Amino acid sequence: MKEIKSRILELRRLIIEHNHNYYDLDTNLISDFEYDKLFHELVKLEKEYPQFFDPESPSHRVGGGLSNKFDSDEHIYPMYSLDNTYSYEELDSWFKRIVKVLQISDFEFCCELKYDGASVNLLYKGGTLIRGLTRGDGLQGDDITTNLKTLNSIPLKLSKESFPDEFEIRGEIIIEKDSFKALNKKRELSGESLFMNPRNTASGSIKLLDSKEVARRPLECFLYSIVSDNLNTNKHSELLTLGRELGFNIPEHDKVYNTIDGVKDYIEYWDKERENLPFEIDGIVIKVNNISYQKKLGFTSKFPRWAIAYKFKAENLQTKLSSISFNVGRTGAITPVANLEPVLISGSIVKRASLHSYDQFIKYKLRVNDSIFVEKGGEIIPKITGIDHENRGLEEDEIDFPHICPECDATLEKHKSEANYFCPNSLNCRPQAIGRIQHFVSRKAMDIDGLGDETIRLLYDKGLLNDVSDIYNLDYDKISEFDGFAKKSVENLSMGIENSKTKSFQKVLYGIGIRYVGESASKKITKHIDSIYDLINMDYETLSSIDEIGDKTAYSIVSYFNNDVNNKMLERLKNAGLIFSKDEESKNISNKLKGKKIVISGVFRNYSRGELINIVEINGGEIKSSVSSAISFIIGGDKIGVSKKEKAEKLNIQIITEEDFTNLIS
Ligand code: AMP
Ligand code: ZN
Repeated sequence: MKEIKSRILELRRLIIEHNHNYYDLDTNLISDFEYDKLFHELVKLEKEYPQFFDPESPSHRVGGGLSNKFDSDEHIYPMYSLDNTYSYEELDSWFKRIVKVLQISDFEFCCELKYDGASVNLLYKGGTLIRGLTRGDGLQGDDITTNLKTLNSIPLKLSKESFPDEFEIRGEIIIEKDSFKALNKKRELSGESLFMNPRNTASGSIKLLDSKEVARRPLECFLYSIVSDNLNTNKHSELLTLGRELGFNIPEHDKVYNTIDGVKDYIEYWDKERENLPFEIDGIVIKVNNISYQKKLGFTSKFPRWAIAYKFKAENLQTKLSSISFNVGRTGAITPVANLEPVLISGSIVKRASLHSYDQFIKYKLRVNDSIFVEKGGEIIPKITGIDHENRGLEEDEIDFPHICPECDATLEKHKSEANYFCPNSLNCRPQAIGRIQHFVSRKAMDIDGLGDETIRLLYDKGLLNDVSDIYNLDYDKISEFDGFAKKSVENLSMGIENSKTKSFQKVLYGIGIRYVGESASKKITKHIDSIYDLINMDYETLSSIDEIGDKTAYSIVSYFNNDVNNKMLERLKNAGLIFSKDEESKNISNKLKGKKIVISGVFRNYSRGELINIVEINGGEIKSSVSSAISFIIGGDKIGVSKKEKAEKLNIQIITEEDFTNLIS
């Protein structure tokens, strides 16, 4: 008996801890399946041994508490959780219990998808959104109205007069799979730590204190139930239709069935089809459709008796940990990646799983040969969900986090506010240097086509490309000696590079890769400045007063420009002819050389070669490297190339001086 009691206490402690992690901290250390197993074990033991009853047991409460960040308020109608099951047997017994209470067996079920996000409760009065609460403890939730108002899918005013004047409508805040990938990609580029999965990100996002930041997260609200005393319909499925007519975002996957076999068809269909949905679901919700039957069935202290969630098992498998690699990113962040004995999960072979950050790494204290659980849910990267404690590797094989950078041997650093260790040797650490160049040439920055990842690596390793300014000073003769660099591809490369010089100064600012200055921050900043050089003189206060530029970003900009190496590099870019200011950009509007194909040859007195190319391009002309009949004219300086000169004469192409050129464009 003593053992039973201590097991019950342990289960309560574990569940409270997991609730706190999941609902308040938005992290999950065990899979849903394991959580539900613990929960069901507790419910079963408490039922068998009522002498250990405790009103405070987590089995009586909806998980998730209140945070002290927001005001809390009471729900008008309590927000219950859903009982859940992973098996048809339990589904059948749920059905039998209902039949017993209702005393009939032919009634309707409304089946819906179970959206995997964070639940919210919206209150509307007279067609206006009054407030929005989190689920909280089920009776009270955090008032996150301001945050929710930033979501387009939540109407502030209803498009037509609503039927009950006052009602609550419940929904789930989610992030679609594609938006999640894009969000993480953006964070990766600006050197921020990656989010784990859409669910945690959605639920973390709605509880941010800064609603401007909330507005930037790609959140959506899917609604699924309307509650009021004055409903003039008796079917849940009709309420969903009504809700859509009122302008609410209610997905249209719901279906009504008369039998539990029909319900099972729906489950089987979506278990397969869910991977094609644009958002994540973790199961199916089955509700008794008739509202007067729902009332008759009522609630337990935690769940409605008239609804149940059938949960899909995220495929969770066990495998062995072979080793951990420590990857160095563009910003120097060290990410631990677990190398696994390959396992087949949901149709694909998984060899690696991400551990995301140092904090995550420390939590597990992994050893080589540990038997670990890996789960592949809707997430992009499989994750480690736990360790099999009976099957651990040897104690002496515990894997240490490195003190030095695996790429360059620099001593790693960790700042208090960051989740990761960093390699501080940003200049000479290979993956960082290469990553910066890759970022600079990427589509949203300078968009240089001929410089793919492989080429960058090659040129870096050959010592031709040490930082982004070297791009504008490449030794093309040398490059043409390398394998795979035929004349044509060298020409394409140099053309792509020349063309990048007309890119706006916002692209340059984004491209140089200041930490936290991602695409959107760079756009905000360039609206406030006339030139990249304005940033050098801006102090921290001025920067952080720019709308939507946070402390971290402002601090990062100041320290970027405090570094002489960066300033010298910028100077080289400027000298190469890149656009650094609004003024230079506006020069771009001339069409004087539109349609003209121009070759430059020789040495000039008033211009550098780069300057000439830039002037041609911002006046709409196109620079070509070799003389052909398609060329409009040649700008010839001292020591003009002999073969170019001969060819021009043969083809009757005009050679103009730099003075002629100045007159032409002035
Ligand atoms: P759980 O979080 O496991 O307690 O499951 C209950 C939660 O599922 C509810 O609080 C809702 O936030 C969520 N849910 C997602 N989709 C639906 C749906 N279609 N109907 C009802 N609840 C849903
Ligand atoms: Zn390094």
